[in-house]
Amino acid sequence: MPDRQLLERVPDGGGHHGARDAVRREAGRPAYLQRLSAQGGVGAATGRHPHIVPPGPGRQTGAMRATTIHAPFDIRSGDAPEPAVQRPTDAVVRVTASCVCGSDLWRYRGEHEFTPDTRIGHEFVGVVEALGDAVTTLAVGDFVITPFVWSDNTCRNCRNGINTSCEHGGGFGMADREGLLVDGGQGEIVRVPLADGTLVSTPTMPTDEQVPDLLALSDVMGTGWHCARGAAVAAGDTVAVIGDGAVGLSAVLSTRLMGAGRIIVMSRHKDRQQLATDWGATDVVEERGDEGAARVLELTDGLGVDAALECVGTDAAMQTAIAVTRPGGRVGYVGVPHGIELPMGTLFSKNIQLGGGVASVRQYLPELRDRVLAGEIHPGRVFDLQLPLAEVAEGYAAMHERRSIKTMLLP
Ligand SMILES: [Zn+2]
Repeated sequence: MPDRQLLERVPDGGGHHGARDAVRREAGRPAYLQRLSAQGGVGAATGRHPHIVPPGPGRQTGAMRATTIHAPFDIRSGDAPEPAVQRPTDAVVRVTASCVCGSDLWRYRGEHEFTPDTRIGHEFVGVVEALGDAVTTLAVGDFVITPFVWSDNTCRNCRNGINTSCEHGGGFGMADREGLLVDGGQGEIVRVPLADGTLVSTPTMPTDEQVPDLLALSDVMGTGWHCARGAAVAAGDTVAVIGDGAVGLSAVLSTRLMGAGRIIVMSRHKDRQQLATDWGATDVVEERGDEGAARVLELTDGLGVDAALECVGTDAAMQTAIAVTRPGGRVGYVGVPHGIELPMGTLFSKNIQLGGGVASVRQYLPELRDRVLAGEIHPGRVFDLQLPLAEVAEGYAAMHERRSIKTMLLP
């Protein structure tokens, strides 16, 4: 797509094209689009063929910056081959912003095994730079949000709403079923397979302020939303949220949107308590374990909550969630489980339902995107540290040491 058409999609862009207008247009464009032009990306494309984009200045043809994990606590930023369309269903996306996920930290801490020198990152937003011939729902120049896994959105599992079990899908930063590398999200450019099913575009180019909000939809906000849905949170419910990481905080926001009447957040970090309160939490419980559960029961006159949202994945968090749930209540869970042993006897005797799992974020993207674009929610507030992609290792360290709730990376 020629430059002009891209500009006409920009809120402040468009109009006619004298040199002065061009300068004014550039000044009014979001900073990430100006960066894109400088890098020689879509906005600067001069070729008539939309698939051909010249390399950026100062960078060798065929190289881009990408993140790899070499060993526990050893995250590196270096050059990788620039991806290109390899299949007709592919999109090549130039990353506007990416971030570090709590689940990346499991590998970082050496608690999940991995092959050394693996590409990493699965949350990003960006601008479509090239498309395979079979892609019909996207155009070069579109701003897109990706869910943290790619999927066709048409197979039996996707039609049932579980894109994370797509019969043809897969993850970022690893080889696909035929052995072709799918780039990690913590990089400059990503080849996205099954683009029609995976990517959700915005109707216009978002502003700089909207970019973090849209980025949060690629995982944490959709995951918090999934947790609240898993626990069937309904208007007037009393809810407890276990976990004050980015997902737990997003779960607070989600339950408020679903109409919960009382939202108890379990948190002992002041900055996180503040954000939870801004997002609708009515009570804060600082105690943990048995003490924390006792405090939640006290707050609910000994009954327990209608819904407990487990957003951590540890046995302690799950036991707390079950302990604070009233008889006949629901537990939602989205933390990647580590050593959880379910007390079936308690679940049986208290008639507690369990709902959740790995979040099918793709299902929620259109609705959450529209809420962001309408200015209704600002889930990007979970990003409290912003770093250049080259300093990604510091982002991991900051999140590991809990100096940052969630770190955003800019190329
Ligand atoms: Zn599928």
